[in-house]
Amino acid sequence: MVQLASEAVTPKRAIRLVILDRDGVINRDSDQFIKSPDEWRPIPGSLEAIARLNHAGFRVVVATNQSGIGRGLFEMATLNAIHEKMHKALALVGGRVDALFYCPHTADAMCECRKPRTAMLNEIGVRFGVDLDGVPCVGDSLRDLMAADAVGAQPILVLTGKGEKTLREGEFPRNTVIFPDLAFAASALLAGD
Ligand SMILES: [Mg+2]
Ligand SMILES: [Zn+2]
Repeated sequence: MVQLASEAVTPKRAIRLVILDRDGVINRDSDQFIKSPDEWRPIPGSLEAIARLNHAGFRVVVATNQSGIGRGLFEMATLNAIHEKMHKALALVGGRVDALFYCPHTADAMCECRKPRTAMLNEIGVRFGVDLDGVPCVGDSLRDLMAADAVGAQPILVLTGKGEKTLREGEFPRNTVIFPDLAFAASALLAGD
């Protein structure tokens, strides 16, 4: 009740976003790529973490490099089927991803969307009308953290997927914060709420 009253007299808060990498953050990663719905396996606690963020009012958006398409390892229809599986699994725990952005290109295509380039993140900012300054961006690879840093977002490293390797290599942006996995990262975001 107190909260309702204070909301009535304070300016409406801007939409709050969390941007997530997919492989190694939401689902288990594979050096052989995730090429089928069957290979898409959630990391324990990740879907529930997304649901908790949703319930606290965060919009959760995914930005993922999927060069397997550019390499001809799988087709767009398969990527859609993989995402269908993800959306269904999320719905079962009361969670949702509001939008999903992917780069289908290989590194040598020199596109603007493949992380560490920033076109996907900027597009998310435009689409949601949100300034990316300080927006939490969770990833397991250096390129996720670099893309986040380049747009002024808050890089968050999780140690699932390639995260341990990224941590060992240690060249990530200075303001990167580190959590064991998405569940811990979400708890920290919600604790600061
Ligand atoms: Mg990843
Ligand atoms: Zn691209």
